Amino acid sequence: MYDVIVVGARISGAATAMLLAREGHRVLLIDRAKMPGGKGAATNLVHPPGILRLKRWGLLDELTESGGPPPIHSYGLQTGPVRLMARLPAVEDEVAEAYSPERRRLDEVMQRAAVKAGAELREETALRELTTDGAGRVSGVRVQGPDGSQFTEHARLVVGADGSNSTVARLVGSEKYGARPVLNKSHWAYWADVPHDGRVRTYRHNRRHAFTWPTHDGLTILGLALPVADFAAAPDEERDRTVLGAFREIDPEFAARVSPEGRVGRWMTGAVPNFLRHPAGPGWALVGDAGYTRDPITAAGITDALRGAELLARGVAEGLAGDDRALDRRVAEYGGRRDALVRGHFEYTCDHALIADYGREEQEFVRAMAKSPAHGSGMVGMFATIVPPAEFYSPANIHALLDHVDRDTGWKLRFVRWLARGAPRRLPPATRLADRLIAANLGSMGDFLLGAAAPGAGRAA
Ligand SMILES: Cc1cc2nc3c(=O)[nH]c(=O)nc-3n(C[C@H](O)[C@H](O)[C@H](O)COP(=O)(O)OP(=O)(O)OC[C@H]3O[C@@H](n4cnc5c(N)ncnc54)[C@H](O)[C@@H]3O)c2cc1C
Repeated sequence: MYDVIVVGARISGAATAMLLAREGHRVLLIDRAKMPGGKGAATNLVHPPGILRLKRWGLLDELTESGGPPPIHSYGLQTGPVRLMARLPAVEDEVAEAYSPERRRLDEVMQRAAVKAGAELREETALRELTTDGAGRVSGVRVQGPDGSQFTEHARLVVGADGSNSTVARLVGSEKYGARPVLNKSHWAYWADVPHDGRVRTYRHNRRHAFTWPTHDGLTILGLALPVADFAAAPDEERDRTVLGAFREIDPEFAARVSPEGRVGRWMTGAVPNFLRHPAGPGWALVGDAGYTRDPITAAGITDALRGAELLARGVAEGLAGDDRALDRRVAEYGGRRDALVRGHFEYTCDHALIADYGREEQEFVRAMAKSPAHGSGMVGMFATIVPPAEFYSPANIHALLDHVDRDTGWKLRFVRWLARGAPRRLPPATRLADRLIAANLGSMGDFLLGAAAPGAGRAA
């Protein structure tokens, strides 16, 4: 009998197992794959909240030692001629850097830490069924081992950390909510000999989202996401032309650093749907992509997996001290906390994933953010899961941003600025009208400004 069985031994599963084992709990960690597994479908960026966890858990040095990724201190967005590049805000005054470690190495480091903490890892062991007690509470797993034989193990809690197509979620019938289909598809590849300067660059131009950042072993990731209807699978040489062509069009200065012959390995393709799943029930919980899958355009899956594992492990550790009802209660609370943590960023990601071009007024807003260090840092902090969208798009923050909009901008923004900042204070309807006019240009992000957005407003590390 284990305290916890974790199904899936990559980021979210290994982190959950490690944290619980470090607390002295008996943990079985299984994965159907031979570990540490392949490269994984990821562009590897880990935002500061994820890096903070890795640092506190004593794993960061191992990931960043020789051949590891360099620190990234600034993120940028270019839309048409408007460029914003800003430093990342610090998380808990402690970590203001992102890294893009090799995915296989990250999995390996996490798994080793889980085993060192006392978790029992069984590879090539696939979940087939869940067992339940007389009251229908999940009580264990029926799995198939490497030699094809099946066996059963019991635990007080079964955690599904088994990715977006989670078997645990299917077997317990966990429903999805907030679901959106695949909104774009991307090409990405590794590139050698691109001089890096510690920055993530993203571009929005002609319904294309280009991105690049330095990763491990001196390599750089280059990619391009397109709306699904515009995406075409193509031979590697054609993808070189498509992606490098997009970079040349929007940022010739950066494109000049990239040798057309510099690609290392093949192009890869990514396409991910968006949904949350109810993450907890009697005797079970979901963590990582199993409970929450989002478009990779904001590169937040690993960071969310690490934060989610921490939240879950904290609740489970407290719950294991009591009876099964107490444990289920703690795990249910984890579900609410997870949603409060990620829901705002989920909406932001879905909005971003549409790859809609910025209108003139939106471009003026980005230009204003580039002039105001606090707003610039807030904007990239929002992308990096540090600043909640409800905080960034709060009326006070957006009204303050209007002070940085060019004086000689078009009449629409001048009017909005007057409504929000210049109209007599005894005319609150003027401010509300200003917010409605601004919100009309912000897509679903406008809901945050109007106070009508989904839950998840609280700032969390
Ligand atoms: C194209 C693309 C780019 C991305 N880029 C980034 C990025 O830059 N930054 C970022 O943070 N995130 C990125 N992500 C997302 C990130 O890869 C995921 O969020 C992350 O891998 C989730 O980790 P996980 O541990 O929850 O699940 P997974 O990594 O999916 O691991 C699930 C594990 O469960 C195991 N498993 C599944 N079913 C069973 C079963 N029945 N029995 C036993 N084991 C099972 C699998 O073998 C696997 O090892 C990207 C994703 C894609 C697709």
